Amino acid sequence: MIKMQNLKKVYKDCVALDTVSMHIRKGEFVAIIGASGSGKTTMLNIIGGLDTDYMGSCVVRNKEMSSLSDVECCTLRSRYISYVYQFFNLISFLTVKENVCLASQIKGKKVDEKELDQVLKLLGLEQKKDSFANELSGGQQQRVAIGRAILAHTDIILADEPTGNLDGENAENVMDILKALNKEGKTIVLVTHDLKIANYADRIIRLEQGKIV
Ligand code: ADP
Ligand code: MG
Repeated sequence: MIKMQNLKKVYKDCVALDTVSMHIRKGEFVAIIGASGSGKTTMLNIIGGLDTDYMGSCVVRNKEMSSLSDVECCTLRSRYISYVYQFFNLISFLTVKENVCLASQIKGKKVDEKELDQVLKLLGLEQKKDSFANELSGGQQQRVAIGRAILAHTDIILADEPTGNLDGENAENVMDILKALNKEGKTIVLVTHDLKIANYADRIIRLEQGKIV
């Protein structure tokens, strides 16, 4: 599903990823763990097609990410990849319901209201359905971002520190949801600095200063 080979990402004065090679199969649940600054977000951004400026290779669903046109890259992302951002990226002037339905709407699909209510309930957001995103706490925003990824119905879910703003109980709840999505066959790549969270995954890839160790 995802294959990196000798991938190198250099920012102006910093090697963020240094000849990284790894392979993630369809249906795997993989955690990328490492200290702050080790290159985790950079790695996820490249897998997710948000950053195509790299050396070496990153192939997702048989496509080399750096060789896609903007349109091809957006199509691949909207069809197959959901991204739970570290800082949520909700649209502040849309409601919770509008935010979680956005991905489906962009694809021109009607949202199943019953499923929407189920997902909001699962995430403990049923009372907040009509609240605007900028009226939510950090933890609530994080759960909306997860709801958006669930309702997008993509094969691949990329999640950058998805429990970073959640208390213990909510973090466990979110991890149980990700585990259940994985059981349904979704490929999940989760970034975290927390070993307890990483242990939910089937396999852990550890990064140190841009290298897989
Ligand atoms: P992590 O997510 O593991 O905390 P990042 O992937 O965000 O780490 O960053 C890896 C390294 O790349 C860090 O040293 C960081 O300072 C650097 N970096 C990240 N983004 C940029 C950027 N846009 N410009 C320059 N350096 C960056
Ligand atoms: Mg990060």
